Amino acid sequence: MALATQLLPEFRIQRDDDRCIRCKVCVRQCGFDVHSYDERRDCIVTDESKCAGCQRCAVLCPTSALTVMQNPYSYAPSSNWNRERITDLKRQAESGGVLLTGCGNDKGHRIYWDHLVLNASQVTNPSIDPLREPMELRTFLGKKPDRLQIRDGEPVDLSPQVTVETPLVFSALSFGAISHNAQLSLARAAREAGTLFNSGEGGLPRNLRRFEKNAIVQCASGRFGVEPEYLRRSAMVEIKIGQGAKPGIGGHLPGEKVSKRISAARKIPAGTDALSPAPQHDIYSIEDLRTLIYALKEATNYEKPVSVKIAAVNNAPAIASGIVRAGADVVAIDGLRGGTGAAPKVIRDNVGMPIELALAAVDSRLRDEGIRHECSIMAAGGFRCSADVVKAIALGADAVYIGTAALIAMGCTLCQKCYTGICNCGICTTDPYLSKRINPDVGSRRLVSLLDGWSLEIKEMLGGMGINALESLRGNREVLRGVSLSQWEMDVLGIRGAGQ
Ligand code: SF4
Ligand code: SF4
Ligand code: SF4
Repeated sequence: MALATQLLPEFRIQRDDDRCIRCKVCVRQCGFDVHSYDERRDCIVTDESKCAGCQRCAVLCPTSALTVMQNPYSYAPSSNWNRERITDLKRQAESGGVLLTGCGNDKGHRIYWDHLVLNASQVTNPSIDPLREPMELRTFLGKKPDRLQIRDGEPVDLSPQVTVETPLVFSALSFGAISHNAQLSLARAAREAGTLFNSGEGGLPRNLRRFEKNAIVQCASGRFGVEPEYLRRSAMVEIKIGQGAKPGIGGHLPGEKVSKRISAARKIPAGTDALSPAPQHDIYSIEDLRTLIYALKEATNYEKPVSVKIAAVNNAPAIASGIVRAGADVVAIDGLRGGTGAAPKVIRDNVGMPIELALAAVDSRLRDEGIRHECSIMAAGGFRCSADVVKAIALGADAVYIGTAALIAMGCTLCQKCYTGICNCGICTTDPYLSKRINPDVGSRRLVSLLDGWSLEIKEMLGGMGINALESLRGNREVLRGVSLSQWEMDVLGIRGAGQ
């Protein structure tokens, strides 16, 4: 027996009937079937209870007849029992299940980027004009040697490196979680901008193998799509241990979403559930991890860096140290604001730590142990703008992963409904009709523009500090000062307060 809902719609939709020309664009554009046309009454009717607030219908309405806004209803004021808590309780009382969500943590955890300010040159150490002087953003990802040895004019025994022209790398977004057109847009943009995209754990469709020089391929707990050719046709291999949005949690792509194309990429039968176990079942120690790292190096003829990605959790510095000692060339750390296609809401909102603290702690630990040069650090987890990136590099990152920002560039409005498989902008869906809403020509152009814009801004900030190469900023916390931070926070970040 269906339980009566006690939920009010999250969004209100107002239609100006005088403006509405009954074109039915809104009916066709809403994948959640909010709008429908009533032929008898010649009007559009609306079921607000299904609205995700993505604004697509309002944006595309040719006469601007629609307004979609948050429903202003409120319960009796209570700091403890706020609207979200009451709504979640009611949803759970109806479903009896785990509440799922998409995107990254949207709670009010402190965003440390907004409490860090950058330095700038004034009288001494003059600033550099990036429009007139060369500025170097090129970044090399991989283990660096203890000392440089030259034989016949060539460096000896240099571990494999991947060169990116900007420190901005696209995060892991797997085929199945995102549409093929979205993944193709990322791949094309990565190639054009001289950077990398990440296959995520869903394998790589055969027609994306041509982007091998720009592909990070993941080896995750489900081992989807992992085969010799997949590993060899890549720029870097990444072992995924954890993810910032859901540390300690696996994944599940329901069988109905496993189409022929997804089954081919993942190497599983079409229509079967794609289950990613929470742990890697062959890794229970650093020694086990080392075995996998070297198995992947062996499989790729020791020609590609191997990365290990972990979620930012309490003991991330010790884990990172173990990862480096196990032979990884790159450590990727994903903070608690990292996005996802689907995660239990309770995990997304309560587990992990901000990337700012984890990054600083990991970088300090590796420096203290004298092994920082043995790996590159990639930071991930809700990077919003170029200033976040510059601050991350000053805290010790070699490069950053951008995921949610890239999705927004392609059209995402952060409606958090990715887990439903219905994405009105064609990103987090496998529905062929919805997927076509991403035109790879347009998607890749927008992504390249985003990378270009951020890269130019990074050069502006570097120039302002009198620095002409990103390498000179890396781990240079002296350019950062804290504002409104407590002493323990500044200690973890390894910085001084503004005015000190
Ligand atoms: S898209 Fe706008 S004009 Fe067209 S039917 Fe919907 S509300 Fe009316
Ligand atoms: S889900 Fe998006 S497209 Fe559908 S009614 Fe709501 S705002 Fe409009
Ligand atoms: S990817 Fe799509 S479903 Fe997910 S938050 Fe963005 S717009 Fe919503």
